[in-house]
Amino acid sequence: MDRLTSPRTIKYIMEKYGFRFSKSLGQNFIIDSNVLDRIIDGSELSETDHILEIGPGIGVMTQVLCENCEKVVAVEIDSALIPVLEETVGAFENLKVIHNDVLKLDLKALFESEFRAKKPKLIANLPYYVTTPIIMKFLEERVPVSDLIVMIQKEVADRMMAVPSTKAYGALSVAVQYFTEPSIVTTVSRGSFMPMPNVDSSVIRLKVRANPPVILESEAIFFKTIKDAFGKRRKTLLNALSSGILGMNKDQVRTALAASGLSENLRGEALDIDQFATLSNEIFKVMK
Ligand code: SAM
Repeated sequence: MDRLTSPRTIKYIMEKYGFRFSKSLGQNFIIDSNVLDRIIDGSELSETDHILEIGPGIGVMTQVLCENCEKVVAVEIDSALIPVLEETVGAFENLKVIHNDVLKLDLKALFESEFRAKKPKLIANLPYYVTTPIIMKFLEERVPVSDLIVMIQKEVADRMMAVPSTKAYGALSVAVQYFTEPSIVTTVSRGSFMPMPNVDSSVIRLKVRANPPVILESEAIFFKTIKDAFGKRRKTLLNALSSGILGMNKDQVRTALAASGLSENLRGEALDIDQFATLSNEIFKVMK
């Protein structure tokens, strides 16, 4: 089957269905066939994989997923695209299209009915303002997916991958690296989409960890520590942690920092995930 990446195909669909791109739904469709190959190869997708695709659009990626994987469930919000998908990819017997907003979807029911046999991989190319909240929802609620393979703004992918003492390193880096092992699958220039967005993108693969990389007394205190430490980036840990949501006073922070072997004058951006774990475990003790 010919791929759907040709701008001619998109124009044909626009004319036949009277379709108009919606900016608010982040409708930028992939028109570069190489990008599809790089995603399939770089994400190690295989013929035994089960896939949850969010935002299939006209089915450019869906088609390739159906050809390469065992089962695909695709969730699309835009009712105008449902008949389009019926025409472009409706013939695949291993595909189920669901017309819904992923944010309103009953994920528990979906997983029970569709993915009981096997943990799926999540694949998404969504409007960028919903992508990070969706990733964090899947990770924090421990939705049983094995990998999240998502197209995101290049700059956000860089933040997810960042290491300590760099400008991009922050709360998002620590949270993503706590739940997953991230890797960049490919970068995608803005010219690979129609219409062309005004940023370049990366496809990032977040391989969900079977076990956390650090041992925590309290996950809630760990995340509050990170939030406070990066909330006021220019402040030292002593000042940032004694004026945030943890609600600690300076003496308590001093005790926790000393017990963790950390200087009061350090900033949050200097700490790696192990040091954040040690610090949050000491904070847990101080606050008990
Ligand atoms: N996957 C296609 C591609 O790569 O060419 C289309 C990607 S386009 C950037 C984003 C798609 O996500 C659009 O089809 C849009 O209608 C859909 N979408 C946006 N918000 C959504 C939501 N909350 N739930 C499900 N689909 C959504």
